[in-house]
Amino acid sequence: MKVAIIGCTHAGIAAMKQILKYYPGTEITVYERHVDISYMSCGTYLHLGGTIKDLDQALYANPTEFSEQGVHMRMRYDVIKVDADKHTIMAQDLQTKEMHTDHYDKLIMATGSITAIPAIPGVENPKVMLCKTCEQAQQLYEAAKTAHHIAIVGGGYSGVELAEGYVKSGHTVTLFQRGPHLVNEYLDPQLSQRIEDLLTTKGITIKTNAQVTAFSDTADNRLRVDTADTTETFDMAVICPGVVPQSELLAGQVNRTERGTIVTDRYMGTSNADIFAAGDVTEVKFNPTKDRAYIPLVSHAIRQGALAGINIFDKRLGSIGTQATTGMLIFDQTVACTGMTLAAAKAANFEAKTAFYEGNYRPDFMPTTTKVSIELVYDQQTRKVLGGQLMSAHEVSQSANTLSVVIQNGNTIDELAFMDMLFSPNFDEPFNYLNLAAQVAVDQEHGYRRNN
Ligand SMILES: Cc1cc2nc3c(=O)[nH]c(=O)nc-3n(C[C@H](O)[C@H](O)[C@H](O)COP(=O)(O)OP(=O)(O)OC[C@H]3O[C@@H](n4cnc5c(N)ncnc54)[C@H](O)[C@@H]3O)c2cc1C
Repeated sequence: MKVAIIGCTHAGIAAMKQILKYYPGTEITVYERHVDISYMSCGTYLHLGGTIKDLDQALYANPTEFSEQGVHMRMRYDVIKVDADKHTIMAQDLQTKEMHTDHYDKLIMATGSITAIPAIPGVENPKVMLCKTCEQAQQLYEAAKTAHHIAIVGGGYSGVELAEGYVKSGHTVTLFQRGPHLVNEYLDPQLSQRIEDLLTTKGITIKTNAQVTAFSDTADNRLRVDTADTTETFDMAVICPGVVPQSELLAGQVNRTERGTIVTDRYMGTSNADIFAAGDVTEVKFNPTKDRAYIPLVSHAIRQGALAGINIFDKRLGSIGTQATTGMLIFDQTVACTGMTLAAAKAANFEAKTAFYEGNYRPDFMPTTTKVSIELVYDQQTRKVLGGQLMSAHEVSQSANTLSVVIQNGNTIDELAFMDMLFSPNFDEPFNYLNLAAQVAVDQEHGYRRNN
């Protein structure tokens, strides 16, 4: 059987690995526009800030390791047409410009996403740069060598991380955020404000409620950035505006949503029995709402890609959905989130409420300890946990993973309040801070719900 995979970043690689493992006789052909594979976009800020010396360190695979296993790695190939009826792919070799047509039995679309470039006048200015691919990361690094004052447009995870990276490399940074607070898709205002305060103490200027309306050149060849209220000049700008799925190759051939994502079943199969799709080109099932949602993340791409590979000849393992768990280390603070914010939960018509817990993660008699802050979002009607946000100088990312499972399993605040968690003074208090956060929620609800 011949399997073609279009796109070889996280979803494509994960699919290929599973096919090599479970269906060793398969002839696999991979098409990828770029020379490199597996670039982690988070490597960009790590490189800018000096945590990783070389961008190559943000690559976890290379084409040779797969060609040595018999995969036809068509690097620098651009697929320009798929004919789902004839099972053919037309691709251009970007080096020789030659066109090639190939036949497949099964196809995996792992074409991901591209930056959703906002329609801001002047956005095409070469001093306005993007931050998704390895090539773009290299450009950002090079441009920063001669830049002093840098504007970051977009205060989501990637904007905040880039701001940190550039400040660490000695730049002056202004961060423009359209909405009222940073990382608003994942954080409610309370913890978001703490991130804003932290960034401010590190010298970053934060402008919230500041929508950039135009970019233009100044007479001395700098970059002018306008918002409704302000005009400032910078040496360069980086925009971090979110992404859109790249699914046009299958337009009219498989079911797609209005947004352009490819509709899949839980096995990552599409409306065409021989075509699978995974990663940023598709949606996920978001368990807190039980709806489909577009949440482009590496963590989703590799799981979906692996499922597409496993299920390609035999639909055996379905996706269990996601809570969209995310995290970042910003200066010395771990910020980790899962499920819904209060704002998102209310928008989804839950009777949502938050409980805020703050306390030291382990006993005060230990040589050191530090504060953990937790915002727990729950449904007052069912008492189910809907989301959680944690921030601490202590490593709390794994607690977001625990909360993710709590949400996945539909546990209530009453159950989380007493859920089994280890105790050792090295790690926590006899009641872990997740138990304690749930106990705050229970107190707010005037005690435990009688369940007998
Ligand atoms: C700055 C930044 C930081 C991020 N940090 C994180 C993080 O910390 N954690 C996290 O979970 N997520 C993070 N993400 C999100 C993450 O990068 C994406 O979710 C992930 O890259 C999706 O992987 P993918 O394989 O589905 O698609 P993509 O990474 O978009 O890859 C698709 C591939 O398909 C190729 N392709 C597309 N069309 C064709 C064609 N016609 N012919 C040939 N090749 C084609 C492309 O060249 C590309 O290599 C970050 C994103 C950004 C921008």
